[in-house]
Amino acid sequence: MNKKVVVFSQIDSEVQAKLAEKYQLVVLNPKQGDINAQIRQAVVDADAMIGAGRLLNESNIATAEKLKIISSVSVGYDNYDVDYLNQKKIWLSNTPHVLTETTADLAFTLLMSAARKVPSLDHWTKQGEWQRTVNATQFGQEIFGKTLGIIGLGHIGAAIARRGFYGFNMNIVYHNRREKIEVAQQFNAQYKSLEALLKQADFVVVAVDLNSQSKALIGAQEFALMQKHAVFVNIARGSVVDEQALTEALQNRQIFAAGLDVYQKEPLQQSPLFELDNVVTLPHIGSATAETRKKMAELAFQNLVDALEQRTPRYLVNENF
Ligand code: NAP
Repeated sequence: MNKKVVVFSQIDSEVQAKLAEKYQLVVLNPKQGDINAQIRQAVVDADAMIGAGRLLNESNIATAEKLKIISSVSVGYDNYDVDYLNQKKIWLSNTPHVLTETTADLAFTLLMSAARKVPSLDHWTKQGEWQRTVNATQFGQEIFGKTLGIIGLGHIGAAIARRGFYGFNMNIVYHNRREKIEVAQQFNAQYKSLEALLKQADFVVVAVDLNSQSKALIGAQEFALMQKHAVFVNIARGSVVDEQALTEALQNRQIFAAGLDVYQKEPLQQSPLFELDNVVTLPHIGSATAETRKKMAELAFQNLVDALEQRTPRYLVNENF
């Protein structure tokens, strides 16, 4: 009998069709009732799961009897209880590298939009308010030649640094759990303590993965260290930042602006951030280009097929059983 694969979020339609050719597919749909109840039911006799953006842990996959792999269509894997998966001997795979450049592009989009007040000026223009030239309250911050502080000089952090260094002649400073000497050399990037980076940078971009050390890494104390003209960007994960402290820093004009792609609770439905004109809010679209989403889906497909054909998936996140 065909192996059973559970699709737990929307995935690329061509990849879904390829999966359907090989396996018995169960496609979950949150519009058809409680998604966790659907997962608990579907996973019982499933061999594999594929998707992104759902919390998977003991509460909804404990019923799995022969699950071999969860193939995540993402690079971040903070949605999954890795210890529990190790205990159950379920592989977890992800899709790194293919989304690095497009996510770095988005970080720069946010940086530039927030610095130059793009959304509010776009709105202003469309409202027909442009009767004479803009006034000083509508001026932005210069980007070229400024200091870019990157927290988390991993794959995406390095791609952001490259844009800043080569594209905008920026002085790069970075903070990471450990120094990244070789990567940093490419952009003449200086290693700093978190405190020193926050004090010095004109632009602060967060690009760490979410883990026990990076949770709530940036809070009220950290915003207090930043410069009044600083622009803060988060493309990592919402829980790296204390969102209330960020909101207050923006409300009090303690920093100039922020550009956000990620939030403590997603989807962001209601938020005091919506009342502010100095924050750009995007709906977690770091990797959301047609090309990249296709590559991620293909990679997740390959990870899944490998696991079901007794090969170790290329991008395994947890232990190899
Ligand atoms: P990566 O290569 O693993 O880079 C993460 C970097 O963060 C590593 O250099 C790591 O340091 C550093 N780090 C982790 N915790 C830290 C801490 N507490 N303090 C300082 N540095 C810390 O991952 P990546 O591919 O660049 O992706 C980074 C994250 O971006 C992903 O995990 C994901 O959550 C997020 N992301 C978001 C989107 C989006 O749509 N917005 C898209 C893609 C990715 P070490 O060298 O010590 O490990």
